[in-house]
Parts: sequence; C-alpha cells; structure tokens
Amino acid sequence: MSLGSEYFDVCIVGASIAGNYLAFLLSNSNLKIAVLEDHSEIGLPFQCAGIISQKLTQLIEVPKDIILNQVKTAKIVSSAGKSIKLSGDEHPYIIDRIALDRLYYHKVKNNRNITYYLGEKYKSFEYRSDNDKKYVFVETSKRNIQTKMLIGCDGPLSSVGKQLNVKNKVIYASQIRIKADFDESEAAMYFDQRWKQLFGWIVPEGNHIFRIGIAAAKNVNYCFKRYLEKLDIDFGNKIDQQGGIIPYGIMNKISFDNIMLLGDSAGQVKATTGGGIVMLLTAAKYASKCVRLCFANRNFSKKFIRRHYEKPCSQTIGRELKLHFIIRLILENFSAKDFDSFFKIIKENKIEHLIYFYGDMDFPRALVVKLLRNQTVIRFIFNFLVKNPVIIFKILKLLF
Ligand SMILES: Cc1cc2nc3c(=O)[nH]c(=O)nc-3n(C[C@H](O)[C@H](O)[C@H](O)COP(=O)(O)OP(=O)(O)OC[C@H]3O[C@@H](n4cnc5c(N)ncnc54)[C@H](O)[C@@H]3O)c2cc1C
Repeated sequence: MSLGSEYFDVCIVGASIAGNYLAFLLSNSNLKIAVLEDHSEIGLPFQCAGIISQKLTQLIEVPKDIILNQVKTAKIVSSAGKSIKLSGDEHPYIIDRIALDRLYYHKVKNNRNITYYLGEKYKSFEYRSDNDKKYVFVETSKRNIQTKMLIGCDGPLSSVGKQLNVKNKVIYASQIRIKADFDESEAAMYFDQRWKQLFGWIVPEGNHIFRIGIAAAKNVNYCFKRYLEKLDIDFGNKIDQQGGIIPYGIMNKISFDNIMLLGDSAGQVKATTGGGIVMLLTAAKYASKCVRLCFANRNFSKKFIRRHYEKPCSQTIGRELKLHFIIRLILENFSAKDFDSFFKIIKENKIEHLIYFYGDMDFPRALVVKLLRNQTVIRFIFNFLVKNPVIIFKILKLLF
C-alpha cells in the first residue's frame, strides 16, 4: 500500500443519522473505522420536520428527552381548502433531530477503533490494488485514506454516489419554526398543484412551537411565501429558518465493488412524505451485517454486497419505496375535485376504519391491499387512471 496515507478497514462518509448509526452498529466488530464529516458540529445545520412513526422505538432505543411530542391526528387539506382528519393506532413522534444525530456519535466517539474526522470533506476515491487485492484510496480535504470498504452516508447530493454515476432526483424544502396557535396533537398536510411533489406541513414540536414547511421541485421560496399567506402566518415572527434537500423517487443502486450507499445518498426516502429515518435505520442493519460478512469472507465484490445488502433492502424497504412512489405519482395528478371525491369516499365508505387499523406511515402495502378490495375505491382509481393514462405507463415502467 502507498506511503503517506492512513489505513482503515471501513471509511464512512457523513456523520448524520445514517453514518453515526452504522458506526454504532459496527462498533463491537473490531474493525478500524474512520468517519468523515464535512461540518465541524454533528447535527448542524438542523434540516428536518422530525416526524417519525412509532416504528422508531422498535428499531432503536430512544431516550425520552429526544421525543418532544406525539401527534394523534393527521389533517389532510386539499387545494380547495376541504379537509379530512384521520387517526389510528399510529401516533407519530416529533423528535429532537439534532439530539438524534448526536445520540450514536456520543456512544461511539471514545471507541478506540473509531476515529471521527470532523470539519473534513471527502473529495474523491479511486480503486487501487495491492498484491491483486482491490482496495479504495480516498482523498479528503486533509488526508489520504486507504480502506477496504467505503460507505457513502453523505446525503442526497452524495459525492461518493456521484463518482459511481448514481444521481438522486431531488426536491427543495424550506421550513420555519414559529410560536403559533394550531392544534398541538395534530400534524397537517396541505396539498397544492404548485408544490405537487410533496405537501406543505405543520408539525407541532410542543410548547406551542410549530415546524411549518414545504417542499417542491422548483420555486420553493415563492411557494413557501404563498403557503404562509394561506395559513395567515407572519414570516417575520419566525424563531428560525431551515432549508434542505430531499431525494425524490425510489431506491437507487446501492452496491458496488468495495462500496455501499446508505440513507439519503441511496434514495432510501419515502416519496409520499420525504421521510427517510425509518428506512435508513432499517437499511443500516442490513449494511452492518453485510460489512461483517465481507470481512469474514474476505469478499468485497459487488456481487457479494448486492446479495447481502441490496437484496434484503430491495425485498423490504425497496418494494415499499416503490409503492410510496406510485402513490406519489397518483397524488401529484390529483385535482382539487379528485381530493374532494376521495375525501367523500373515505367518509361514506367507512374507510377511516381501514386506515385506523392498517394505516402505516412507512409500510403502506397492507392498507393499499385492503383499500383495493373496496369497489368504490377501485372505481374511483380506475376512472382517475383513465383520465390520466400517462400514470399507467409510469407505474408499469416502475414495476417491470
Ligand atoms: C426539510 C426536511 C424535512 C424532513 N423531515 C423529515 C421527517 O419529518 N421525517 C423523516 O423521517 N425524515 C425527514 N427528512 C429526511 C431526513 O432528514 C433524511 O432522510 C435523513 O437526514 C437522511 O440521513 P442521512 O444520514 O442519510 O443523510 P444526511 O442527514 O443528509 O447527512 C449527510 C451527512 O453527510 C455529510 N456530508 C455530505 N457530503 C460530505 C462530504 N463530501 N464529506 C464529508 N461529509 C459530507 C453532511 O454534512 C451530513 O452531515 C426531512 C428532510 C428535510 C430536508
């Protein structure tokens, strides 16, 4: 191996939730791990609405103080101002996102096998070989690293992904935190054709503070202004403001020789809500198992990584992410009239009851199957697709 560089078994790029959680999962493996983070402080800048399903506490142990609030109702508002309130067994958490990002960092930062390089930018990688054994040579803003495995947890605009020709489609988000007088037990979603790739949200953080935001493919500032006007919110009263980028689509290619992508860099984000945390925590468990297997078998090939990381991800979160995207394709084309008809169907056909029992923010398959057994829903979707045939082709392309 060449001189003037440091050796690590694994090099993780990005110390946000995906990178830190993976480092934690690998912390008892005896592998020597480097974690590179561009920013000098973990968790900053804050860029999240922080609403996560209760699955969070099934996946990880969450200290009580990270959960700021819990919502009981979801209010959906159409562009014509008609609304429906849905509730069920699911009472999503509103979390302190900065604290969640720091949780696993604090758990592993003193581990002698794990080295954090904060304020250090990953720049590029190249494959090299030593006695016919392939490894990855990484250049950062401050050093060179040789590693057996490189893991891109570097977010929606992943530099690791870019070098592998993986490019996420993205949408842009804007959010403020503000004291206001909305319902503290309700999260609201405002749909509008001008921000059709997602919706405007009101998320109650607790203590009368609300996270109000929007995401759209273009003109996000203009859309955000219109949205705040609609809500009669004075932007000048904001506590602070956040921006951010959200991947939009389905899971990307995630396995390569000696390299994996995880989290937003892999497009592991729900197209219906822009939520990525449950998906990436699920994927991180597969990633950690795969890394251990790679070292145990001395096999770092794309084929091996695909079998032990990409395949289990595809069979679980991957297929749900496709379904989220199909739902998104349909919602994007909903007119105000379609929303009103659908709200009416929900109210008149006791579908609220199905949503109550089968509604799952992350894994919607069970609810969709139940809904498709209802004749009125089938008729509504059929008529909608006949009016919008282009969606049929997009769905077929996605499935086959
Ligand atoms: C406005 C907004 C609201 C959201 N709301 C929710 C929500 O309510 N619920 C939910 O589940 N999800 C939500 N999400 C999505 C969620 O925030 C992401 O899915 C999650 O942050 C992805 O984590 P990650 O670790 O993969 O990537 P990121 O959190 O994007 O972290 C990537 C890390 O890599 C670092 N990095 C990038 N490039 C380099 C480089 N070259 N060198 C070194 N370090 C680098 C970055 O500094 C960053 O720390 C929201 C996103 C946005 C933008």
